[in-house]
Amino acid sequence: MTEHRSPSPSPASTTADPTTVPPFPRATVLGYPRIGPRRELKAALESHWAGTTSVDELEASAAELRQRTTARLVALGLGAADAAVPSSFSYYDQVLDVAALLGAVPDRFADLTDGSDLAGYFALARGDRTRPPLEMTKWFDTNYHYLVPEIGPLTPVRLVGDRPVRELLGTARRGVTGRPVLVGPVTFLLLAKAADDAPVGFHPLDRLTDVVTAYGDLLRALAAAGAPWVQLDEPALVTDGDVPRDRVLAAAATAYGALAGGLALPDRPALLVATPYGPAGDALPVLADAGVDAVAVDLVRGDVDAVVASLTGRFAGRSVVAGVVDGHNVWRTDLDAALGTLNRLADGLPDVRVCVGTSTSLLHVPHDVEEEMDLDPLIRSWLAFADQKVREVVTLAAAMTDGPGSVAATLDQARTTVASRRTAPGVERPDVRARVAALTDADHHRSPYPVRAAQQAAALPLPPLPTTTIGSFPQTPQIRRARAAHRRGDLTSTEYTAVMRTHIAEVVASQEELGLDVLVHGEAERNDMVQYFAELLEGFAVTQHGWVQSYGSRCTRPSVLWGDVVRPEPMTVPWTTYAASLTDRPLKGMLTGPVTILAWSFVRDDQPLADTARQVALALRDEATDLEAAGVGVIQVDEPALRELLPLRAVDRPAYLRWSVDAFRLATSGVADSTQVHTHLCYSEFGAVMEAIDALDADVTSIEAARSRMEVLDDVGRTGFSRGVGPGVYDIHSPRVPDVAEIEDLLERALRTVPADRLWVNPDCGLKTRRPQEVAAALRNLVAATATVRARL
Ligand code: GLN
Ligand code: ZN
Repeated sequence: MTEHRSPSPSPASTTADPTTVPPFPRATVLGYPRIGPRRELKAALESHWAGTTSVDELEASAAELRQRTTARLVALGLGAADAAVPSSFSYYDQVLDVAALLGAVPDRFADLTDGSDLAGYFALARGDRTRPPLEMTKWFDTNYHYLVPEIGPLTPVRLVGDRPVRELLGTARRGVTGRPVLVGPVTFLLLAKAADDAPVGFHPLDRLTDVVTAYGDLLRALAAAGAPWVQLDEPALVTDGDVPRDRVLAAAATAYGALAGGLALPDRPALLVATPYGPAGDALPVLADAGVDAVAVDLVRGDVDAVVASLTGRFAGRSVVAGVVDGHNVWRTDLDAALGTLNRLADGLPDVRVCVGTSTSLLHVPHDVEEEMDLDPLIRSWLAFADQKVREVVTLAAAMTDGPGSVAATLDQARTTVASRRTAPGVERPDVRARVAALTDADHHRSPYPVRAAQQAAALPLPPLPTTTIGSFPQTPQIRRARAAHRRGDLTSTEYTAVMRTHIAEVVASQEELGLDVLVHGEAERNDMVQYFAELLEGFAVTQHGWVQSYGSRCTRPSVLWGDVVRPEPMTVPWTTYAASLTDRPLKGMLTGPVTILAWSFVRDDQPLADTARQVALALRDEATDLEAAGVGVIQVDEPALRELLPLRAVDRPAYLRWSVDAFRLATSGVADSTQVHTHLCYSEFGAVMEAIDALDADVTSIEAARSRMEVLDDVGRTGFSRGVGPGVYDIHSPRVPDVAEIEDLLERALRTVPADRLWVNPDCGLKTRRPQEVAAALRNLVAATATVRARL
């Protein structure tokens, strides 16, 4: 099985022999941010989509960005000649890249593209006038979204593109030997969905043979173009999904048996298979036995002894890339601890070449912390963004090859910084700790729902099928301009407040005019539903340039939660009470829930997430009681990210669901029974977390439902959800305005599962990204449809 491989892991071997596996570089990263330090890719893409620049101009900008990235990685210490530099660029998404390379284009696009041209590629990502794009969903437990390939029995699958080959040659022209990085065949198919017209029982994995054949062709082309190594990412091997584990492992054995075992060097490059985002478990022996030349394992989430056990006696002469630097978070690595892990691996597997890497691609972290000159220097010293992580990897590799003495000064400095984080003021606050320690079960409970419902009905007279919205109204250019001017100092706080109040007044008046029952203030003052709170809470820091790709050209700028959380003063009360003062109708206060605040921030890694969640929940609990005291009788606590943090492995899920539900309940149980607590969640796959949603015990839950034509109600019905529910009747992801008949129809469908006294009427999600005219038209139709359906009750 291993004939084609070099018999010894000797690092010194310079392989003139093309049939031997070249030594894997001692230091590498699994991938690097592609958006650019100043979001250059975003600018290039958006001007191309706007028609301002041609395809050639876009390609030239992208090539320049790739060159600068390569040069940067070499300057940071990755080898230029040994495939240490990953080529992980993408114009939009790495899963879409594979679909396009393989020409796996859904039928509706077949007349437009075979996948090999950029115009077709962008059409798949973004849709066009007549064709909806590929669906988008979260990449493992990150806030990155990938495009979901649609594969049926007849979907074309054969190599049609050559972009990885062209990029490899482009990098080579600059004197650097890159390492192409691609999503691997098993993960590609596990992330795909069955095409709409596929027969019942079909799974994209049924097309494994065709996909593997196409990957084989690509590997041959990359070998011919001079790639010594190619990296295939197989994160799906670390998760528990719908496909039984046996079948997943069999697919991995088949795929890598064919690609590694079945092809010999020099017909293919050496193969590194990466299993980021968690422990690879029983997939490691399968990959080893299939004949891959190297594996990259996640040792931040995975356990080194388990890796040793999996590979003992079956990986001699091959390489393990030890992912000891966290690719998924922004904290500086404890280099001593990482060295300990590396030594354990090296001692446990003496016949294996141990290399140093990141646990995942660096796609999930910003570029460079040195850009953050506004950040408190002490906090900045604790952080490592992508560039700092590359240096950490290089330092650790030097310590492994030349001994820790060779990098003593760097190790020393890291030690001091990591230690300073343990004792710095604000990291542990006795008052916060004492309050958390004193919490009891009673702090997580309200009276039984029927008791609350009766009190709320008395306090809050509402018609059946009450209408409301999810919180935000359109963020108009005026709002954005005022915010920017305020940030620059061109608008005083008083002037800024006045502009926001004007918008709030308009939004309240327009909701009254439309006839909505429960109003909102519109969230004009919020730049982002998490950052807004992060800026007002102690224990958080915000960055200036810390952008992270969310999907396509879209980026988010997560806040950094570094210390114990304290709310120095009310955060939403003045805006909310101002809005409430303008109307006699009930007005709903809006908070972002503890789990969502954690999911969309970089969170301290020195204590369990559950502990941090409790602190955030207490701050929100105080806010909720302050809102109530100020006369706000309806409070919504949004948890759109509840599903996102769900652990990838089934064994870890119950504990997560317990603490996340507890955190929400802690935040919302401080109010009186007569105060109505709402929550909002937006994604359509509820099945897995429906029981948890029920356990949140909110009085009213609004969920996304319009796009799936109310399919989520099956889950609602199945779990016997017994409180208020607002399945969205207006798909806010599209500029389309739903007409009255359509909304009536959705409401009639909903009434088949939810009784009239518990059904709420609302859009799928917040309206901030839509245009005011669309929103007014859609809400007008929503109110009209509700009136008709009410009349028939
Ligand atoms: N209240 C938020 C809004 O309306 C909810 C956003 C979300 O669910 N992502 O914008
Ligand atoms: Zn939402």
